[in-house]
Amino acid sequence: MSETNKSDAPAVAQDTSTTGWRKYFGAPKDAGPAPIQAPPPRKQLAKLAQIFESSKRGWFWATDADLRLTYVSEHIAKRLGCSLGDMLGSSIKDLFNDELAEGSAGNRTTGLLLNTRSKFSNMEVRADYDGPEIWWAVSAQPDLNKDGEFVGYWGSGIDITTDRQSRDESSRLTHSDTLTGLSSRHKISQRLESALQAYKIAKRSCALIMIDLDRFKQVNDTLGHQAGDELLKQASQRLKRVAKDGWEVGRLGGDEFQVIIPDMDDRGELAEAAKKMISMISQPYTINGTRCVIGASVGLAIAPYDGITSEELTRSADLALYAAKNDGRGRYRFYSTELHSDAEDQRQLEDELRDALERGEIWLAYQPVVSARTNEISGFEALMRWEHPERGAISPGIFIPIAEEANLIVQLGEWALRKACEDAASWPGTARVAVNVSPIQFEHTALPQLVASALASSGLAPDRLELEITESVFLGEGSDIDQTFKALKKLGVRLALDDFGTGYSSLSYLKSAPFDKIKVDQSFVRDAAQPGNRNAAIITAIVSLAEALDMETTAEGIETLDTLDLIKKLRVSHIQGYVYSRPLHYDDIIEKLGEGNLTIKPSGPEMNRSDRKTLYRKVGIIHEDHRYEVTMRNLSMTGALIEGLNDVPKGAQFVLDFGEGQLAVATVRRSKGDKQGLQFEVPLISDGSDGLCTRTRVSPYVLAAAGMPLAALPSGHYPLVMNEEAANTSGKGFSLPAFTQSEAGGSVLRVA
Ligand code: C2E
Ligand code: MG
Ligand code: MG
Repeated sequence: MSETNKSDAPAVAQDTSTTGWRKYFGAPKDAGPAPIQAPPPRKQLAKLAQIFESSKRGWFWATDADLRLTYVSEHIAKRLGCSLGDMLGSSIKDLFNDELAEGSAGNRTTGLLLNTRSKFSNMEVRADYDGPEIWWAVSAQPDLNKDGEFVGYWGSGIDITTDRQSRDESSRLTHSDTLTGLSSRHKISQRLESALQAYKIAKRSCALIMIDLDRFKQVNDTLGHQAGDELLKQASQRLKRVAKDGWEVGRLGGDEFQVIIPDMDDRGELAEAAKKMISMISQPYTINGTRCVIGASVGLAIAPYDGITSEELTRSADLALYAAKNDGRGRYRFYSTELHSDAEDQRQLEDELRDALERGEIWLAYQPVVSARTNEISGFEALMRWEHPERGAISPGIFIPIAEEANLIVQLGEWALRKACEDAASWPGTARVAVNVSPIQFEHTALPQLVASALASSGLAPDRLELEITESVFLGEGSDIDQTFKALKKLGVRLALDDFGTGYSSLSYLKSAPFDKIKVDQSFVRDAAQPGNRNAAIITAIVSLAEALDMETTAEGIETLDTLDLIKKLRVSHIQGYVYSRPLHYDDIIEKLGEGNLTIKPSGPEMNRSDRKTLYRKVGIIHEDHRYEVTMRNLSMTGALIEGLNDVPKGAQFVLDFGEGQLAVATVRRSKGDKQGLQFEVPLISDGSDGLCTRTRVSPYVLAAAGMPLAALPSGHYPLVMNEEAANTSGKGFSLPAFTQSEAGGSVLRVA
C-alpha cells in the first residue's frame, strides 16, 4: 500500500470484504469483447476512489448498522466547516435536511429510506448545516452479511448545487409546473395573495381547496418515479376536468394540489366539488399497463370567514386537510376553529411517541382468537398499547396513524414483531401469535429478513407466527409485493388478510396472494346482524370462497350473543371479540395457558343496543332583538330538538346561532313544555367529518359594518355582537306569548 493511501483513505483501507467498494461500483458496463480480467486488487480500487475524491466532484460515505458514519470523504467535512473526527460516529441522517428532500416525483425522505434500510439512488437532498445552500444527489446501497442482516450502508454523493439553483430559477420564471402543466406553486400563491388583497377591499369571498393524494408514495415507491410522474399527470388532468371556468388549479409540489375559487362561500357547492374531486382521483389508473388505485383527501377554507390574508387562509385549509387525513383519508373537511387545538395535540403526541418505546410506555396486549366450532383458543392477536404517563391509555387507532405519518412505524413494528415472537415462544403450548404489519413495513423489502431474524432469535416455529396485512398493500401492485409474499411463505409463516370489508374488498387478489386466513372487519360483521342487511349474504360468499381456497376465516369484533349466533350459522371458522375475551396482559395468558385451559365460554349482552347519539350542546336562539341560550338535544340536516324555552307556539320562526357565523332560520314544528322540534329553512350539510354545518355564514364584513373592526376579528370565529345584559325571562317585543327560559336553558342576551 502506498504512503498516500495509508494516510488519506482510512475507511477504504479498513475494508476487508472482497465485495466492498467493488460491489458498490457495480459490474463493469463494457459489454464489448474485452478480454476477461481479474477484478482490480483492493489497493487499486482504493487509489481510484481517492483520485475521484480529490477531484471533489463527488464523495463517499459508509455507516455501521446504526447508521453512524464510519467513513466520509475528507473534503466534505471541510466544505461543511467541521472536522472529520466530528463527523465520524454521528448519524448519517443528521447530514441531510429532510424537510427539503425531494425525489423526482414524491416527497420521500432520505430519513425514511435510511430507516427502512432501503437502497436508493440520486435522491436530491440539501445539506443540513449552517452555511450557504449545498445540494447533493445521494445514492446508498445497504450492506447485508451472509445471514441477510443489515450491517451498514455504502454510499456516495455528487454536488448538484448549481444545477439545482438554475432549475429553481427557471421554474420560478415559467410559472407553470413543468410536469403537469398546472400553475406552479409560485404562480398560485401569487394569485391567491393578489386575489385576497383585492377581495378584502371589495368584500368578496374566495374559497381555497387543498388536495393531497392518498397512497401516492406507495405507488411511487413500488412502481418507480417515472410511473409516479405519469400518475401525477393523469391525476392533474382529472382535477382540471372538475374545475369550472375561473377556478385556478395548481400543483404545490410532490402530490399536493391547490384550487382557488373566487366569489365562492357556499359550503354545499364546495362539498359537492370536493366529493367529485375525490371520486375522480380515486378511479383506477393504468400506468405502463399496470393498474393502480390512489385516493385523495381534501381540506377547504373560505375567506373572509376562515382567514383574511393568504397566509391565514392557507393555514386554515392545511389544518382542514390534515384533519381530513386523520379522519381516515378519502374525505373532505371544512376548516373550523377547533381544528387548531387538534393539530397542536397531534404534534405533541408525535413528539412524545418518538421516545415512548425507550421509556417503556409501549406494550403488547393479546386477544384470544377462538375456534367457532369448539370454543378453543387457536391463537392470540398482539395489539400494541401505549400507556401515556399523563393521558393514560392511548388507542392504536390514534397512535398507529401518527407513527405511520412520522416514520416511526418501522421501529415500533419491528419491536412488536420481536416481542410477540419472544412472548409466544415462552408461553405454554402451541397457540399461535398474530402480529399486525403496517403497509409501510410491508413495502420495506427487508421484511422477510426481519421476520427470519425475529423467528431465529426467539426460537418460535414459523407456522406459529401469523402476519396480519391489510388490503392497501395491493394498491401499488408492484412486483416487489409478490416477491415479499413469496419470501415470507418460504419462511413458513402464515399470512392473514386483515380488516376485509373496509377497503376495496376485491376478491380478485385472494386468488393470487397466498393467504391462510381472511379476517372480516367488525363494522362489516356488526352490520350483518341488522335486519335487512345484505352483509350476511356477502359473508357467506366470502366463507365459501375461503373454504374453496383452503383458507380460514375470522370474524372480528363480536360483542353480543345474537351476532355470535348469526356468525356461527354463516360457517365462519374463527371468532375474535369481547364475547370471548378482551385483549389480555401477557401474565393473564401465561396463567390461563399454564392451567391447560384452552376453551372460553362466550358471554355478553344478548343483543346490540343501537347507540343513540345524544347531544348536549349550547346554541343561541335569536328572536327579534333577543338572544336566548338553549340546549340542543339532537340535530339532523333538516332540523333540531332544543330545550330551554317555555311557551313557544307552533309556527314561531327564529334564527338558530351555532357559532362561527353559522346561522339557520328555523320554524317551530312541535312544542311541548320546554322542548321544541325545529325545521330549518335551508338544510344543513355535512362538514366532511361526522358533523353538520350551515351552507353559508354571516360575513365578517357584515359584522365589521356593524361596528367591529375587521382586523380585530379572530380568523374563522365570528360570534354575534351582543351585550352581556342579562335580561329577565320575558321575551321583549315578541308578539305571541313571550318565551321564558326553563332550567335547562341559559341566560338571555340582547343582540346589539
Ligand atoms: P385490528 O388489527 O383489526 O385489531 C382488532 C381491533 O378490534 C383491536 O383494536 C381490538 O381490541 C378490537 N376488538 C376486538 N374485539 C372487539 C369487540 O368485540 N368489540 C370492539 N369494539 N372491538 C374489538 P385495537 O387494539 O384498538 O387496535 C386497533 C387497530 O390498530 C388494529 O386493528 C390494528 O390495525 C392497529 N394495530 C394494533 N396493534 C398494531 C401493531 O402492533 N402494528 C400495527 N401496524 N397496527 C396495529
Ligand atoms: Mg389485526
Ligand atoms: Mg382487523
